[in-house]
Amino acid sequence: MAMPGIEYRSVSCDIWKEVADIVGEENLSKDLIQLASYSRDIWTRKTIEMQMGNLPAPPQLVVWPQTVDQVQRLVRFAAGKNIPIIPLGAASGVCGGTIALKGGITIDLKKMNRIRNLDRKSMLAEIEAGAVGEVLERELNHQGYTLGHFPSSIYCSSFGGWVATRGAGQLSSRYGKIEDMVSSVEVVLPNGELLRTRAVPRSSTGPSLNHIFIGSEGTLGIITAATVRLWDFPKAREFQGFMFPDLHQGLDAIRLMMQSELKPAVIRLYDPVDTYFSSKGTLEEKPKPKKLGLSGNRGLVRFARKVLPYIYSPGLPNRFLQSQAKASKMILIFEGEPEIVAMEHRQAKEICSRSGGIDLGEWPARNWWKHRYRVSYTMSKVFDLGFFVDTIEVATVWDNLENLYYSMQAAISKHALVMAHFSHAYPQGCSIYFSIAASGRSLEDRLATYDSLWKDALDACMQAGGSLSHHHGIGILKAKWMETEEGGANPLLKALKRAVDPHGIMNPGKMGI
Ligand SMILES: Cc1cc2nc3c(=O)[nH]c(=O)nc-3n(C[C@H](O)[C@H](O)[C@H](O)COP(=O)(O)OP(=O)(O)OC[C@H]3O[C@@H](n4cnc5c(N)ncnc54)[C@H](O)[C@@H]3O)c2cc1C
Repeated sequence: MAMPGIEYRSVSCDIWKEVADIVGEENLSKDLIQLASYSRDIWTRKTIEMQMGNLPAPPQLVVWPQTVDQVQRLVRFAAGKNIPIIPLGAASGVCGGTIALKGGITIDLKKMNRIRNLDRKSMLAEIEAGAVGEVLERELNHQGYTLGHFPSSIYCSSFGGWVATRGAGQLSSRYGKIEDMVSSVEVVLPNGELLRTRAVPRSSTGPSLNHIFIGSEGTLGIITAATVRLWDFPKAREFQGFMFPDLHQGLDAIRLMMQSELKPAVIRLYDPVDTYFSSKGTLEEKPKPKKLGLSGNRGLVRFARKVLPYIYSPGLPNRFLQSQAKASKMILIFEGEPEIVAMEHRQAKEICSRSGGIDLGEWPARNWWKHRYRVSYTMSKVFDLGFFVDTIEVATVWDNLENLYYSMQAAISKHALVMAHFSHAYPQGCSIYFSIAASGRSLEDRLATYDSLWKDALDACMQAGGSLSHHHGIGILKAKWMETEEGGANPLLKALKRAVDPHGIMNPGKMGI
């Protein structure tokens, strides 16, 4: 069956039969509708192209293995025939990581979703890669634990995808990023062999093999399981909001909190423009969102519908918003043992007040907690209105943070409305998460704007000494900047890829290696 806008590469009967022998006929598909649904992830560029009537060419087969042995046999089969393999968790990636650039077989791991082992004494769990985030967290909660990893995509991303992209959850300041949680990995290598590292607290047996595969985005092997640390389900949770007269004071407060060994589960500082849009009845000094009908996400959509269709050049609105909005809102959430939580909360309040913050009480943080996943799932409305939205997440050390922020803000402002928040903080530095919205007179125009925007943004990031990605990874989107960031290490990564995957079958074309 042909479908307009889809370039279909068929698969021979022999290949179909051999793969069916490995996984069973009910666990593979070459149905064009199924294949089309596997042709892309949530990369915004591909959403714009889809609006233009084009989907990337899909894989030739989609397979749902149920065991490690099946994955090994699939990989051996593909390696023997030089067929590309694309590992897939839930396709919530935002950088094009699951696009079958050279056709081949997409291996969807969702049927491998068990918690294999829960070691209560060591507080470790061995989990299969295909477990979907929210389901996994709920299962762990029933056992009295939390994994502490809560990406905004928790309902639509997989455990293996988190490990493969070095993801971060909303509570990372307390629980760490996924790489801080993993103590061992199980990987099917591109020749079909199985590598299992040992679950140990620490070791000194050469460079860490775990860290070769964490963040490798399917280019070096298929992660079939990993062992991660668990935490007791928190007994107490406390909420706090602050408003700072400016961004600098808010950032200083975060730095001081992180450097005095506080571990807030959530620490989010909104830049003045984001504060302008997201504040609701919290402070007299704030701009007047109510008058403009701008409160919350719905307010943003209403605002977009009314005003933005007439603005294809965002320079002016950005300048207006950046000059009007001054204050920066912070939300803090502490969780864990009640006494420690109360002590951390007290200490954080003291630091924030000393840094010029005005106490907003608990409401802003409670409100954020209640709606913490909502914003991510309302974006399609904005596309329907004729805009595109995207996010750019970078990181740097404290000494360079404001430089990176202002450099990138200036670069993006030429192309899109831009706001940012700071939500993954460390004693040494912090990430910046830019949210952008732009339009164009035609879809072609939108695509051109999209490309120039990313180019200018990442060029500015590289020039200002930031890291290309704090947690979304590289995929296709950021591949061409890898060399600039990794410098001398890039040939090393390429050599590693050649050694592990000599025929280049594992997720070809990704990460610039
Ligand atoms: C609404 C929304 C909110 C988001 N919020 C966050 C957030 O808060 N934090 C965050 O970190 N990210 C976030 N993301 C990005 C995305 O959810 C993460 O990158 C996530 O880790 C991807 O998981 P996945 O299972 O969907 O992976 P996929 O998109 O299926 O794959 C991502 C990459 O990893 C590879 N891969 C997947 N599984 C495996 C495996 N088992 N073995 C080897 N390679 C594999 C793929 O080939 C691909 O290159 C968000 C995305 C959306 C759409």
